[in-house]
Amino acid sequence: MCGIIGYVGKENAVPIIVEGLKKLEYRGYDSAGIAVYSESGFFDVVKQKGRLTALDARLADFPAKGFMGIGHTRWATHGEPSDINSHPHVGNQNKIAVVHNGIIENYKQLKERLEKKGVKFISETDSEVIAQLAEYYYDGNIMETVGKVANRLEGSFALGIMCVDDPGTLIAVKKDNPLIIGVSGHGNFIASDVPAVLKHTNKVYYLDDKEITVLKKDTVQFFNMDKEPLMKSPETITWNPLNAEKGGYPHFMLKEIIEQPKVLRDTISSALSDNENKTVIRRIDITKFNKIVITACGSAYNAGFAAKYVFERLCRFPAVEVELASEFRYRDAVIDDKTLVILISQSGETADTIAAMREAKSGGAVTLSIVNVVGSTIAKEADFCLFTAAGPEIAVATTKAFSAQLVLLYILAVRFADRLGKLPETAGGGTETEDGLLKEIEALPDKAESILEQIDSIQKYASACVGYKSIFFIGRNIDYAIALEGSLKLKEISYIHSEAYAGGELKHGTISLIEENTLVVAISNCKRLHGKLMSNAEQVISRGAKVLLIGNSAGVKPDDKLSVIGLPESCELFSPSLSVIVLQLFSYYVAANKGLDIDKPRNLAKSVTVE
Ligand code: GLU
Repeated sequence: MCGIIGYVGKENAVPIIVEGLKKLEYRGYDSAGIAVYSESGFFDVVKQKGRLTALDARLADFPAKGFMGIGHTRWATHGEPSDINSHPHVGNQNKIAVVHNGIIENYKQLKERLEKKGVKFISETDSEVIAQLAEYYYDGNIMETVGKVANRLEGSFALGIMCVDDPGTLIAVKKDNPLIIGVSGHGNFIASDVPAVLKHTNKVYYLDDKEITVLKKDTVQFFNMDKEPLMKSPETITWNPLNAEKGGYPHFMLKEIIEQPKVLRDTISSALSDNENKTVIRRIDITKFNKIVITACGSAYNAGFAAKYVFERLCRFPAVEVELASEFRYRDAVIDDKTLVILISQSGETADTIAAMREAKSGGAVTLSIVNVVGSTIAKEADFCLFTAAGPEIAVATTKAFSAQLVLLYILAVRFADRLGKLPETAGGGTETEDGLLKEIEALPDKAESILEQIDSIQKYASACVGYKSIFFIGRNIDYAIALEGSLKLKEISYIHSEAYAGGELKHGTISLIEENTLVVAISNCKRLHGKLMSNAEQVISRGAKVLLIGNSAGVKPDDKLSVIGLPESCELFSPSLSVIVLQLFSYYVAANKGLDIDKPRNLAKSVTVE
């Protein structure tokens, strides 16, 4: 949440910062601002409520210029989105400018103390206190000042800081929120995420907590809080800058849905061919554990929930629990060194998942993370880490990263089952061998491609669904897990009320909401439960609902109440990877037909780095 970029170099910072903000807008988009150190010896500050286009328009009337600057795109936590509450914030003396990502938990106490000393606050944000405190402490050495400020702040922060007395020095520091440092031939950068700097460099440093970075146009130095220099090595980013571009698609979300066959192929190969993921999976001795806890937020939680069915079915593991990270972190869960805690997060910076990981580690559990961003906090701190090969995901509603998480979880379950001796050497009796299961997984990318060939008919169906006030999703067993994801996707981007229910649960309450003109999306890939789910479909049809069946269409006759989108045959355990593509496209086209801002849904932001 919130995007920060800063630049100090030989070129005009303004277009570089604005362009970088555009790449970070997925992280927050209720307001934006920029501050540059101008030739006049002061900061030029331009802040604007609304999307970046509004800031762009303001900048056209107010052409700022300078060789050092900071920019911010906000997802408000304290204070409404407004021009004044936008970042950067500047202290009363106009000496120090700050951009902040995160939440300062003790801002009220700090603000009260500063106010008693005569400091006047102009915004409602927690962040302004950082700029005011910095000016209060400032005694001519900006790096020392930043160290003092960082020591006083409680909560989470990633900061970019400039001081008018030091026109060639940009300072960065972070705690529990991400910040990277990019180095290029024409200047150096701070940013919340790699896509913001990819056009200029693929060499980045990942900052650790409480490391202070001093950036000048041709040097970058790192220090600890005791001002001792630190040696750090840069990482080379292999992402293609074009992956962070829309490439002719109307939305990133559609592009990312269509990229899924390739993402599945790359992720499967990362875990089955000889490379890092494969080695990591081999190093985990599952026989040492008696419990698996999967914990995550949002769609990543849904991936974990689907994986629970796979782990249980294949590994026959005594206990596989799935829990929301925001609950797990405060639950005082019963875990020990025989517990494997699996953490799933696209960004690797999800605040609740980071806290859940630290909670798990302090309880003695072994942690395994599944993340998309190399160098992220969860990737670095977990005992083991598997990387999804999804590339940069820009649309706020996840698609390809979710699919990559799922497929890694399947492979993990198959490998664990084999290690536990739960898979037969040869197929038979309804059981599958390790090879057989892996072949099923390897067949998924081609099957995903064949679903994308049905895109026109999915679009046509979805276009007719724009008017529904409420859409329910039902499924049984692993289809219920993917129903949760289908419902979440629809809510996120179309703003249509939606709930997901286990098919058998409808009659215990929700069926009372079914009336003429309710749509129920029924997902059916579990052969042994197909008849049961079709009975649930009949029950809602007889109460006036229309049903869209996704999955097993054998023997099903569509009519004006029942529509069908068939899926290629597959092992039911891995079928969520296919159903989800139809569900994503369905949500996408419903939202597109409503003319909504699909990549940046209201109130949401990607990479949820606040609690
Ligand atoms: N807490 C700060 C604010 O509300 C920063 C939010 C963000 O990370 O965008 O302004």
